[in-house]
Amino acid sequence: MAQSRILTVGTFFSEFVTNRRVTPMTGKLFGTTGVRKVYSEEFDLEMALNLGKALGTYVGSGSVVIARDARTTGLMIADTVTAGILSTGVNVIRAGIIPTPTLAFITMKHGFDAGVMITASHNPPQYTGLKFWSRNSMGFTAKEETKLEEIYNKKNFKVANWDELGKESRFEDSVEEHIEALLKRCDADAIRSKTFRVIVDPGNGAACVLTPYLMQRLNCHVVTINGQLDGHFPGRRSEPDEESLGDLIQMIKQTGADLGIAHDGDSDRVIFVTEQGEVIKGDRTIALLAQQAMLASKRGTVVTTVDSSLVLDETVRRAGGNIIRTPVGDIQVAIKVAESNGVIGGEACGVYIFPEAHLAPEPFLAVCRVLELMARTEKTFGELIATIPQYPIIRSKLECPNDKKESVMKSISETLPSKMRNVKEVLTVDGLGITMEQGWILVRPSGTEPIIRITCEGQTREAVEEILRTSEEVVRATIASA
Ligand code: MG
Repeated sequence: MAQSRILTVGTFFSEFVTNRRVTPMTGKLFGTTGVRKVYSEEFDLEMALNLGKALGTYVGSGSVVIARDARTTGLMIADTVTAGILSTGVNVIRAGIIPTPTLAFITMKHGFDAGVMITASHNPPQYTGLKFWSRNSMGFTAKEETKLEEIYNKKNFKVANWDELGKESRFEDSVEEHIEALLKRCDADAIRSKTFRVIVDPGNGAACVLTPYLMQRLNCHVVTINGQLDGHFPGRRSEPDEESLGDLIQMIKQTGADLGIAHDGDSDRVIFVTEQGEVIKGDRTIALLAQQAMLASKRGTVVTTVDSSLVLDETVRRAGGNIIRTPVGDIQVAIKVAESNGVIGGEACGVYIFPEAHLAPEPFLAVCRVLELMARTEKTFGELIATIPQYPIIRSKLECPNDKKESVMKSISETLPSKMRNVKEVLTVDGLGITMEQGWILVRPSGTEPIIRITCEGQTREAVEEILRTSEEVVRATIASA
């Protein structure tokens, strides 16, 4: 067996990347997933302290595990949140810099009363935030977040006496425990026998401490780029996509590697790149893995968000299963996976949920499953993914004054579905999502600009253009009369 190795190429290929504001900013503390704000402009240490106090009050007793990604503000905020929790008499276990899924995994495995991740996910480096996890490995639901926010707003915090304060301890082996659990959930020997050549791009984020070592344990030849933890994200933008993964694509082409693996800042996402250097959207990879998961039973439920490709529905249906769509956000997917006893869940941005492991995003098991499939079929990832077609998606935006957005969205939620043919489902949480036989539409107001964005997919160019034309007409007329 060839010996595995890890090389760090560092940020040699780094390029200047313009930071973008990607999270809608409102007065509300919690967004789509937890709290995410710009440090010092929208979030300060007093808020961190009070969020710690609020969580300790909410939990009441027991222990909370706290971890962080590599952001420059992470240690300071983790210390402050810790102080807030300890002041309520609740213990704090510090797990250091680890991926979000590792935090969710140990919260569940060790039965901690809650988990807190200090992270702003894939947002630019000036952002910070907190994601909260339950003992059942799921992120806090909207109901749980509302309760926490109520305690935070009322400042009705539990105050422990000097001799009843929480105790702080450390958790050193979380990554090792997580890797051991992952190795048990895949055919590690099949993967090891192939000595795959992989290039890992953690984007200077939390996956630096896990993915290269997982690959090593699977006897892969590993080259890591942007492989050192750095909260400035010097190597690339933290969100892994075709635009930000130029260095990874280039390295795969130059070295002839078998697979590229890229993560976001807190590593709850993974994006795969084929041996040809093609960046594959998450929904196509979910389709591939869902097909495999249903191979034996010929049935099962797959959960995804409104913006996933129709190809996922078709693949799942052909494999004998059914699909459920939810509003965007991994928590929404996790809730439906649990309710429907689903086989797999995920989002096109690179989120994978494997309920047999836990209910948090699990990008590392997705990596294992992709390598396992390559090993078993003796096919390249490019050959495997070529069996999952791609449909045209088009995006458009219409100007709409910020103060009209709410009434426009309300009005089109009532009128647009009736203008479409073969409507299967209408979702009005976080924008308007319409799923039809022939495609889908997602209409969402921008959180930062006076525009409304429309995204459509259809099986053919003509179908998608017709869907967009009708959607634009309705939205434009509604804006004009608002
Ligand atoms: Mg993330």
